[in-house]
Amino acid sequence: MTKMKTTGICSYCKKEVKKNARSIVSHLSDCEISKKSNKEKVSEYLIILIEGKYAPEYWLVIKAKADITMKKIDKFIRDIWVECCGHLSSFSDGYSKISMNWEISQIFEKGHKIDYEYDFGTPTEISLSLIQEIEDTDDKEIQMLFRNKEIDFTCDECGEKAVIICPICLYENRGTLCESCAEKHSCVIKSGEEILSPIVNSPRVGECGYTGYEDRYVEKYFPNGII
Ligand SMILES: [Zn+2]
Ligand SMILES: [Zn+2]
Ligand SMILES: [Zn+2]
Ligand SMILES: [Zn+2]
Repeated sequence: MTKMKTTGICSYCKKEVKKNARSIVSHLSDCEISKKSNKEKVSEYLIILIEGKYAPEYWLVIKAKADITMKKIDKFIRDIWVECCGHLSSFSDGYSKISMNWEISQIFEKGHKIDYEYDFGTPTEISLSLIQEIEDTDDKEIQMLFRNKEIDFTCDECGEKAVIICPICLYENRGTLCESCAEKHSCVIKSGEEILSPIVNSPRVGECGYTGYEDRYVEKYFPNGII
């Protein structure tokens, strides 16, 4: 499996954007994301990039209300990307742990990355950084702005589109399989097909049987339907 750069899709207008702060910020001003409504109550929001620490081809950009706690960001990451069986998680600034009770505006600073770890046994490591602070009249606490396009994996055995991953082979950076190769895969013959995990659009793909998000938990984050 080779690492690749992925473009993202805007959850408001569905246009594609490149993964860099300049393209993202310029799309923010072009798109309806920042068209202010006539509501009077203006609040501070942070535009935050969330990406796989070792798999940056998985990335999201969210707009989060400045006074929500880190706990809400934790919940969001669990809902969209990592939750499998209620493992522990934590944020850190590289030196020390960050309390889940802090407001995000106290934590995020331009140029500083925040680390997130979910499940200390088979960890998924994620990094977060501030792109911009804006004012908005949105009343939602967290909205998805961009999400990386689904990554196409090819079957390691025949080259067709892969749909399943073998977590044993994943340790050697392979193990993406199409349906017909999965049936004959040597690890499956040895250990049964229960070991296989579906390929999902998340840096937790293949870990601890993770099967992706549930629509009912993530719908609220998308302004115009799940992308
Ligand atoms: Zn847009
Ligand atoms: Zn688990
Ligand atoms: Zn195949
Ligand atoms: Zn295998």
